[in-house]
Amino acid sequence: MDVLSSTAIKVSNPINGTILYEIDDPSQEQIKAIYDRARAAQAKIQAMSIEQRIAEVDKIRDYVIQYESMILDAIIAETGKARTDAFAAEVFEVTDVIDVYKKLAPKTLKDRKVPQPIFLIEKKSRQFIEPLGTVLVITPWNFPFYQVIVPSLMSFLAGNATIVKPSEVTPLKPLWDHFFAHSGFMKDAIQVVTGGKETGANLIAMRPDKVHFTGSVGTGRKLMEACAKLLIPIDLELGGKDPAIIFDDVDIDRTANGIMWGAFTNAGQNCTGIERLYVQEGIYDQFVPYLVERTKRLRTSHPGRDTSSAEDCDVGAVTAPFQVRIIEEHIEDALAKGAKLLCGGIQEKGSHHIPPTIFENCDHTMKIASEETFGPTLAIMKFKTEEEVIRLANDSPYGLSASVWSKDVERGTRVARALKCGNVCVNNHMMNEANPYLPFGGVKDSGIGRFKGEDGLLAFCNLKSVLIDKQGKLIEPQWYPYTNSKYKLLSAVMHAWFGKSRNYVKFVKNVLPLDSIGNKEKFK
Ligand code: ADP
Repeated sequence: MDVLSSTAIKVSNPINGTILYEIDDPSQEQIKAIYDRARAAQAKIQAMSIEQRIAEVDKIRDYVIQYESMILDAIIAETGKARTDAFAAEVFEVTDVIDVYKKLAPKTLKDRKVPQPIFLIEKKSRQFIEPLGTVLVITPWNFPFYQVIVPSLMSFLAGNATIVKPSEVTPLKPLWDHFFAHSGFMKDAIQVVTGGKETGANLIAMRPDKVHFTGSVGTGRKLMEACAKLLIPIDLELGGKDPAIIFDDVDIDRTANGIMWGAFTNAGQNCTGIERLYVQEGIYDQFVPYLVERTKRLRTSHPGRDTSSAEDCDVGAVTAPFQVRIIEEHIEDALAKGAKLLCGGIQEKGSHHIPPTIFENCDHTMKIASEETFGPTLAIMKFKTEEEVIRLANDSPYGLSASVWSKDVERGTRVARALKCGNVCVNNHMMNEANPYLPFGGVKDSGIGRFKGEDGLLAFCNLKSVLIDKQGKLIEPQWYPYTNSKYKLLSAVMHAWFGKSRNYVKFVKNVLPLDSIGNKEKFK
């Protein structure tokens, strides 16, 4: 057996550092068998009606409802999340997505009638919405349940077999074993393959029909290169450096609460968490102290935390040790460059329990205000005008999501339009992601493609274009042999119909003989 990596990967609990279990990379033979099973299952899935596929997906919902508490325990053990974070963004969201897709999928996946131009009036055009085959989903560590199950169920509804390679940081292996043993979900339709980066690379090398990736920009680039070599289509959901813009007419209490949540939920480990905050000068001196005072009241994770309680903490642990180092580096860089620490900061070097940290006097030379921190930090900057803040918000290699806060919804919407990003909320943050009807995705370094909504479902499909003609006697005028008289008629028709002013008389005069000229001037 060809074992790719002999070193087992240790999965640990970030709250107290205990080792939970180990995973190994599968061998090449095992990977080949996984693809064989996927391809066999795919043929069965393709033959199922959409109602039958929905009935399978309902088993996921039933499983989530039945085992809610156990799922949360498994997620918390590997991520260190606050219980409510794990519940809202992973468990609740999965049930909501399923409910929406039960309505959306039958409509979206139906074959479509497509109109045709006047010259093809006698023919029929269709779009068959078909599966792609086998889809490979590669996921990160920040939402290990949601990010595995949601793309997989979308891919399944579209008729594909799905192979998922979860992050080696939070593979949730015991949970997936339990899920496949107890949910009754169709065998081999979704296979979760645990392992490290090499397993991800080896799975791509087996030529899936599509890759759906969520993760960092650097890894996304590598995956796109690997896919380019094999011409495999890939969707990339990458990082962000979300700005939130506060105009001076906001309700301070509501806005401060919204910003706190947008910045610190999931301990800031969201690609769409608020990392940059631009506050207009007229409200700055009232808003910032209010926000800081409220933030100081948030309960931060600690090693002895009772994770069974929804009130155990507000801001969970930072999941990955390498992320702790990045957050610390950004905090140190901000301090060195003259940012003013208003709350939080590094309490104990290397600790996964980082309190919500707010800086003011920031600028874009600081990592905390320009690079993805992916932690519970917020860099505040003051602005004067709408024009200035649009320029500042767009001054980023990222373009994932943003929010604009103002009582003047017209202004909020105008600024939302001016921002170069894939998603925006007005007077909220990240809530667009709570609507599964809305596609999600980024521009610039934040990614390629759209996930969820109708567009996201179609991203897992082959949109096959079909033209259906009659099997009569008609020989098309543009078929062989090419003759001067056919050419003249075709040219006259083009000028009559598409010329600056439409000439109906000339059109009819030339289009009528065009109908029969193919038969007259055919090869005898
Ligand atoms: P993060 O989880 O911090 O966003 P990455 O973007 O590096 O980290 O990883 C996301 C996922 O991509 C993980 O499942 C990881 O194993 C996988 N991965 C990392 N490097 C590669 C690679 N070269 N080929 C395929 N998969 C990879």
